Amino acid sequence: MVDRKEIDLQKVYVKIKNTLGNYVETPDFEAQQILRQIFKATYNDILIGAKRTVSVEQMRNLKGIVLRRCDHYPLQYLLGEWDFYGRSFLVGEGVLIPRADTEVLVEQALCFLKPLSTPRVLDLCSGSGCIGLTIALERPDAQVTAVEKSPVAFSYLLENNERLGAKVECLLGDALVPGIVEGMFDLIVSNPPYLTKQDIEELQTEVQFEPVEALYGEEDGLYFYRELTELYVPRLPRGGMLAYEIGEGQQDAVAEMMSAAALKSICQIRDYNGIIRCVTGMKE
Ligand code: GLN
Repeated sequence: MVDRKEIDLQKVYVKIKNTLGNYVETPDFEAQQILRQIFKATYNDILIGAKRTVSVEQMRNLKGIVLRRCDHYPLQYLLGEWDFYGRSFLVGEGVLIPRADTEVLVEQALCFLKPLSTPRVLDLCSGSGCIGLTIALERPDAQVTAVEKSPVAFSYLLENNERLGAKVECLLGDALVPGIVEGMFDLIVSNPPYLTKQDIEELQTEVQFEPVEALYGEEDGLYFYRELTELYVPRLPRGGMLAYEIGEGQQDAVAEMMSAAALKSICQIRDYNGIIRCVTGMKE
């Protein structure tokens, strides 16, 4: 029995792209990502129609992925990893998929940390760890602590930390429980769940496969900002910064909470789609 055959990457690419075309918004990009993952194919390999000898098993795997993707199962979970800030993070069911929008929060954090040496950083509701681990890797002198309450998400956080060599202190626990983490932090960052009740009712099919506890911020989406601001502003020294990722339209409510907690120099920062995605405030 022949269990290997030769394929032409360009032909396979076109086939996947056409199949996905009826179901997803960017079939060309997704077909590239799939081939990159399964056959380690570069875009150039696809363009020139490079040949590969592949196993029956690999082809079966490929077909399975394309079929599940046609059912709107998230591509990132099918591939098992996804890029964030130039690094690959392991993902799967039970952990929120890193979004490019979140890179704006990381950039604000890194910019704030620039003049500080050996800063202490706290990342709350870490999920895959894309925020905290990226900060630690970009600033190896920083002492970063990450808190995540879901055991499944926490296992991804640990594995990503290990794989990327980020040396972040990872704590399994609920950020809203006082005393879960000790001490003061120069920078506290969080991308907490922020979708409203209505958002949850109208979720895109793909997002319905993601853990609701990583998405839902109660009726008005603002629950975590209220709680975290109250609990963690006292953990900032003078000159320390609190930085949140927020949902569309939440900037004024969140800025008001920061200001009520006596934070100053409150800034709102847009993502690459022009949506205000990040709010920061400083302790004076
Ligand atoms: N950005 C995610 C979404 O729009 C939500 C992430 C979150 O709640 N923090 O689906």
